Amino acid sequence: MTVVGFFSKGTSISVQNNWEQKLKLFLPSIKLVPLLSKEALNVTIALIWKAPMERLKELKNIKGLISLGQGVDHILYELSIPKNITIVRIVDPYMAKSMSHWVLLSVLNFIRDTYGYYDQEKNKKYQPRKEKNFLTIEIAVYGVGAIGTVVAKDLYQMGFKVNGWSRTKKEIKGVTCYHGESGFSKLIKTCDVHVCLLPLTSSTKNIFNKIAFKNMKYGSCFINAGRGDHVVEEDLLENCKSGQISNAILDVYKNEPLPNSHNFWEQENIRLWPHVAAETNPETAAKQIANAIKCINNNILPPNTINRNLGY
Ligand code: NDP
Repeated sequence: MTVVGFFSKGTSISVQNNWEQKLKLFLPSIKLVPLLSKEALNVTIALIWKAPMERLKELKNIKGLISLGQGVDHILYELSIPKNITIVRIVDPYMAKSMSHWVLLSVLNFIRDTYGYYDQEKNKKYQPRKEKNFLTIEIAVYGVGAIGTVVAKDLYQMGFKVNGWSRTKKEIKGVTCYHGESGFSKLIKTCDVHVCLLPLTSSTKNIFNKIAFKNMKYGSCFINAGRGDHVVEEDLLENCKSGQISNAILDVYKNEPLPNSHNFWEQENIRLWPHVAAETNPETAAKQIANAIKCINNNILPPNTINRNLGY
């Protein structure tokens, strides 16, 4: 039997059972046990989302951690994880497409002024609003990895001018690619819509701050589905109040769930989603997770093992 520890914050046992059922299709010997239970003490692998990482110290045989999401910041915040523990993430085309749908929706809502029309509808006001010419709008996608590349390509297919930003040099058909600090400074100044799809690392934390927002064009649209910590929230709020940012569409926050007392709730031009832009789908992710489990137990490095030095 392959016993694997399981922890997914805020979910019930039925979620664990569903994962076990989906994983059994590819690894019939698997048994998932709650990570915090006694049964998990001897596991070699844990399948986790926002788990209490101090538990690791009690798992003497642990060899691998598999993230239930594409990001691994929920694991790597714990700096003391030994380097010999393999950390794997999901890379699922289903999630990339799902994110692409959410970003397209957000961009289109901005360009077609959906919320302005909603307000008019409430007041029975039948009147065209000033239209934005999509041909003149430039979009920057910060982070063109597994997800951002799909998003950038889809935006291009929709007829937009799209730019991508990454750490290393990239070539993506239809997308103008930039990298490094100079690329960031250029895109911040020249684009109208800014989409953050970066992983959270020490280099990307607070990257959207007072200076970045100040350098954006007046009336820019800011979309964040990366992580809350990419943004200095007070700086975003101030810029939304002044109109420097005309629309912010957010899926992720420094503190999740977003507290009731947070000022974002009161700010009309900030649209809030509860971290649902691209949710993990056990049906499409099970195969690669089962493979990662087999690899780790056979001392083979699985696909999508993260680079500990880079943090993603
Ligand atoms: P990838 O690792 O595949 O891609 C990351 C991209 O960011 C790469 O293009 C990488 O550059 C770039 N990058 C990383 N660090 C830097 C840096 N310092 N400067 C410039 N570019 C940098 O990640 P994914 O596309 O799979 O996922 C991205 C993030 O999306 C996740 O980490 C997670 O935070 C978020 N996410 C959010 C979800 C939601 O529902 N809101 C769902 C899923 C993911 P390079 O290509 O050169 O390495």
